[in-house]
Amino acid sequence: MHASASPMDSSTSIRAILAKEQLDAGRHVWERRLQEVTTREVETAIASRPGSYSLSKLVALVSPAAENCLEQMAELSRKLTVQRFGRTIRLYAPLYLSSHCVNRCQYCGFNRDNMFDRVRLSVDEAVAEAEILAREGFRDVLLVTSEDRQFISVSYLTDLAKALRGKFSFIGAEIYQMTASDYRELFLAGIEGITLYQETYDRQAYARYHLGGPKADYDMRLRGPDDFAWAGMREIGLAPLLGLADWRIETLALGEHAHHLFRRYWKSRISFSFPRLRPACGVPAEGFPHLVTDRNLVQMMLALRLCFADAGLVLSTREPANLRDRLVKLGITKMSAGSRTSPGGYSHDHENAGQFEVNDERAPADIVAMLKHQGLEPVWKDWDRAFLSV
Ligand code: SF4
Repeated sequence: MHASASPMDSSTSIRAILAKEQLDAGRHVWERRLQEVTTREVETAIASRPGSYSLSKLVALVSPAAENCLEQMAELSRKLTVQRFGRTIRLYAPLYLSSHCVNRCQYCGFNRDNMFDRVRLSVDEAVAEAEILAREGFRDVLLVTSEDRQFISVSYLTDLAKALRGKFSFIGAEIYQMTASDYRELFLAGIEGITLYQETYDRQAYARYHLGGPKADYDMRLRGPDDFAWAGMREIGLAPLLGLADWRIETLALGEHAHHLFRRYWKSRISFSFPRLRPACGVPAEGFPHLVTDRNLVQMMLALRLCFADAGLVLSTREPANLRDRLVKLGITKMSAGSRTSPGGYSHDHENAGQFEVNDERAPADIVAMLKHQGLEPVWKDWDRAFLSV
């Protein structure tokens, strides 16, 4: 834990930072500013020290003016990623534990208003699913659950983590928000990374898309990453859900959030994910006003890499195969393969409703072959642990 960086310290809180920069509300200031960025400002940003962050640099790199410089940005991103991570791509698989949820997130198939047969896995059933993944070669697993606190409790998760520790070199979790002391318990049981999407940094949009349940509290959500970083988590996963608000401004808020966490919890690694909205049970993608194009997605990834040299960039199976094949060489450090997004999905293929529709359905072996074909080295194991124990 980082005792000097208590999550209770509000004077430098991410909430205060976003409010000061008008990245949580009053965002029209940024809409104007982004349109005004000149080619010269973009060139200055590209010429600055690769991997260094400032808000003005990120503004230039996500601006419409930077769309003419994507090739140059891609080349720099490629070089920087190879320097920091080699030609490796870590492989992981999500393991869904429950589709029961108390929240009403309007973009999610698991939201409590949707009528479908919901499923929970017992700890033994979850271990059986994990064993399928381990047999396929995975050593990095991401436990995923909706907000089902009564069943997927802290003790459920610690029991599961203890059962999986011997089989996996890295256990991460994408779970409902907990207290700092609950996160600490998970960490001590062997869960070393937490991903918590803010979904959107835009307060008004957040209120529109979160109509009920504990998750509807924007400020509480915002403090989550401080809490689990403070608890000692080695990997801190951040992302907005792409499609809910203007991606350029969301990236600025994400950059400020990451910069804040980097300064306070320097022992942890920050990872960015790029979840684009996908159709799901009861959720057609067309109703969302800010859907992100492939070109926008590439620009966002490159801009973040050029500002955060050591950040992990994570790519999920939400994206189609042909796009994933192109993105792996631009700065990605970790990707999922063969994912199922329903509890029990590895043993009972397509029987239960998933959280969203997977777009790249290739088997892990196909992903390995694709990476090797591109001169990249697929890594099943998290080598950081070996490094840390030296
Ligand atoms: S996004 Fe998460 S919290 Fe919201 S409805 Fe879906 S599973 Fe529940």
